[in-house]
Amino acid sequence: MSIRFDGRVAIVTGAGNGLGRAHALGLASRGAKVVVNDFGGARDGSGGSLTAAETVVEEIRAAGGIAMANGADVSNFEEVTDMVARATKEWGSVDLLCANAGILRDKSFAKMELADFAKVLDVHLTGTFYCCKAVWDGMRARNYGRIVLTSSSSGLYGNFGQANYGAAKTGMIGLMNVLAEEGRKTDVRVNTIAPTAATRMTEELLPPQALALMKPEAITPAVLYMLSENAPTRTIMGAGCGSFAVIKLLESEGVNFAETEWTPDTVAAHFAEISDMSKAKALEGAFHQTQKYIAQAEARIAKA
Ligand code: NAD
Repeated sequence: MSIRFDGRVAIVTGAGNGLGRAHALGLASRGAKVVVNDFGGARDGSGGSLTAAETVVEEIRAAGGIAMANGADVSNFEEVTDMVARATKEWGSVDLLCANAGILRDKSFAKMELADFAKVLDVHLTGTFYCCKAVWDGMRARNYGRIVLTSSSSGLYGNFGQANYGAAKTGMIGLMNVLAEEGRKTDVRVNTIAPTAATRMTEELLPPQALALMKPEAITPAVLYMLSENAPTRTIMGAGCGSFAVIKLLESEGVNFAETEWTPDTVAAHFAEISDMSKAKALEGAFHQTQKYIAQAEARIAKA
């Protein structure tokens, strides 16, 4: 049976353009009632109007779907809580959140102004936190919630000129890891998308034939899967051009040394072995790392 969202209420932030628009249209076409949020500013976060969100709402309605426009700035907690309150009043709940709104203020780190760093952190990381915070209690109370955060390869893997953006986008992974744990008991699942698509954010970076492959609609299936009933939790998916992948943070098996060898020279001498990734694993929580090291130390002591 195909994935449906009948009876579910979704908020998609930054849904007036690009990826958010594609996600909002996709959710509405599968039965969700959608809050199309967009503050409608320029790529650097300046300006603002409700027009972009209203245009997407009209598209959804024209296709027979249900949607409302909302112009909240995700970096303003009052506006975000007001958006959630309106959706709840109108439609009874908010079950699905796709935190997607974003801006760019690219500059090499040497030239980056403090304000460019703060603004990008505000919109991407604090804004995502505000959206999660505003829907969290309701999801927990109803024992159901699906949240997708929007990260980026720029943070996960690094990209010149994006210290602000990269930091914010990888900060989200920490947020996801903790929220997924805290949401587990009440069936609130939290996942992350790392997209690559042709939008106004990327249109100047690649040649036209590459951009033609990078349709925003190619990301939406991964986002909708991670917002669905049977979604995983604490998963990062990469998507673009029809490719879908899972991204994990891996830790090497590591090597345990006796206290007499706790020197930088030991680390240098064994670095090849320490960084051997052939038995690397993704750890499922902070204490798994602690437990792993305790077990390795105990095994070394038992062998001595
Ligand atoms: P886009 O510029 O087309 O869309 C972003 C939308 O967010 C815009 O409509 C904008 O008005 C809105 N927005 C910005 N600040 C807002 C705020 N404070 N409150 C509410 N709305 C706000 O860009 P896109 O490429 O569709 O980006 C969507 C998300 O995907 C962003 O988080 C972006 O960082 C991320 N991303 C995109 C790519 C890509 O290849 N396009 C790659 C990695 C990550």
